[in-house]
Amino acid sequence: MRTITSESITKNIKEMCIEANYSLSKDMEDVFSHAVSTEESNLGKKVLQQLQENLKIAKEDQIPICQDTGMAVVFLEIGQDVHIEGDFLEDAVNEGVRQGYIEGYLRKSVVADPIVRENTRDNTPAVIHFKIVKGDGFKITITPKGFGSENMSRVFMLKPADGIEGVKEAILTAVKDAGPNACPPMVVGVGIGGTFEKCALMAKEALTREAGHFSEIPYVRELEQEMLSKINALNIGPGGLGGVNTALSVQINTYPTHIAGLPVAVNICCHVNRHVVREF
Ligand code: SF4
Repeated sequence: MRTITSESITKNIKEMCIEANYSLSKDMEDVFSHAVSTEESNLGKKVLQQLQENLKIAKEDQIPICQDTGMAVVFLEIGQDVHIEGDFLEDAVNEGVRQGYIEGYLRKSVVADPIVRENTRDNTPAVIHFKIVKGDGFKITITPKGFGSENMSRVFMLKPADGIEGVKEAILTAVKDAGPNACPPMVVGVGIGGTFEKCALMAKEALTREAGHFSEIPYVRELEQEMLSKINALNIGPGGLGGVNTALSVQINTYPTHIAGLPVAVNICCHVNRHVVREF
C-alpha cells in the first residue's frame, strides 16, 4: 500500500490549473503550427498567426490564454493500492482549484446553482471523474473547459441501423451547428457506444488525448482522418471567417454498447484545448 498525502494532491492541482491556463501543451502547439502552414485563406492564416502570437504572449508573460479560464474538469486515475492520507480527496482537489484560480488570477466562472446563479468566487467546485486502476500510481489530468465550445456539444441517441454513416452525419451536424460559436479552429472529441452518460464522458476524455495523434484501432483511426478532412471541407475556418482549418484534430473513443442503441456524443473544444497531465 502506497500513501499519498492530500496536501501533495492540492499542490499539484493548484499548479496544474495555472499551467493549463497560461500555456498549451506541445501537441496543441504542433497542430497549430501545422494549421498555419496548411491554411489556404489569407484571412484564415492571419487569424491563426494572431492566435499563435496570443499563445506566445500568454506563455512569456504568464497570463491566461483566454478570458474564459473554464470550469475545471479533473480526471483522477487512482491505483487500488493507494491510500490517501489527510483531507477527503474531493476536498483536496477543490482546494487545489481554489488556490490555483485565486493565485493565478484566473477568471472565476462557476455559479453554485444553475438557476440561482450566484458566483462561488473561487471557481469551485470542479467536475471530478474518478477511475480506480491497477497498481499504486496516481494520475491527474486537468482540462479547464471553456463554455463557448461546451455549449455547442451534443449527444445523439442513434439507432443501430444508422451505422457508421449515421455517426459521421451526427459529428458533421454538431460541427456545422457550432459554426463560429465554438471559437474555431476546434478540437472535436467524440464518444461512440456505452450509454447516454458514458458516451458524453468518453467524448470529454477524448479531448485530453494528444491532439494530432490518431487512434490505434484501425477503423477508428480511419474515421478520425475522414472526419477531420470532411470537417475541414466545411469552410468554417479559423475564427469562423473561412478557410481549410476548421478543426485541428478529431479524437474518437469507443466502448461496448447495448444491442438496441448507438449513442454518439460530440464534445467540441475551441483552439484553447487545455490539458495538463501529471503522474506520481
Ligand atoms: S470557447 Fe475557448 S476560445 Fe472561446 S471564449 Fe471560451 S475558452 Fe476562450
